[in-house]
Amino acid sequence: MPQVHLDTIPIWDAYKKESECPLCALEDACEKQFLDVALGGAMMEPDTRVRTNERGFCADHFRKLYAMENKLSLALMTHTHFKDVIASGAKAAEPLKRALEAERKKNPVARAAGDVTRLSPVHKALLALCDHLTMRSGSCFICERMESTMARYVETICYLYKKDAAFRQAFAASKGVCLRHYPLLLRGAGRYLGGAAQLDFLSALLELQEKNLTRVEQDLEWFTLKFDYRNRDKPWGQSRDAVERTLNKLQGRVIPSADDDKPQTP
Ligand SMILES: [Zn+2]
Ligand SMILES: [Zn+2]
Repeated sequence: MPQVHLDTIPIWDAYKKESECPLCALEDACEKQFLDVALGGAMMEPDTRVRTNERGFCADHFRKLYAMENKLSLALMTHTHFKDVIASGAKAAEPLKRALEAERKKNPVARAAGDVTRLSPVHKALLALCDHLTMRSGSCFICERMESTMARYVETICYLYKKDAAFRQAFAASKGVCLRHYPLLLRGAGRYLGGAAQLDFLSALLELQEKNLTRVEQDLEWFTLKFDYRNRDKPWGQSRDAVERTLNKLQGRVIPSADDDKPQTP
């Protein structure tokens, strides 16, 4: 039993969509929510403000924030983040500045002999500055929140699988998951399930993936064969959106699919 309350409703909602990956549906929903949080009222909350200043956003999420309505919120938030980046960058550049100064003070002969090698103070300081800059541009407030929310959803899926026969049925009848989310479920089973529940979940998952990856692959094949004039009059079957579904099955949420807007059946 989990120690904390797990919200099973979003999981059920995602499975009712009957999409190519319920985890993508969950990820999509929580991304939208965190984008709103970042630019909405919560942006003014000190806690959120501190975290957005410190973590910033990845290119993808900056692009998505920029596409939203509220340019003033984005400007205010980015301004404080930018000042923070500049100040911490200046601090991180200090050792390199000092090393350059020391290097400059050496006489030209000694400098030519020493050069800037991998072990020199200049080289070490520039690597440290690179690490700092990479660390700062590599963090994202939204990616990090999504990651922890998805981990929680995986835990809930495992919990439901163990406790709820109706969910086991829905899981077995689903179209599996994308290949980006597949390892998340595998690791989840290793972490949150044990004994027979773990064996059952893993066997069901492997079978589900094999069956559904093959299904999408065959849909894609038929899509290509439809371009052969001999097949021109044959029915498309499930293959009209096979390219989108294949890209989404391989990487998850590459192309927004019709599934995303499909109303949930009660
Ligand atoms: Zn997915
Ligand atoms: Zn991000």
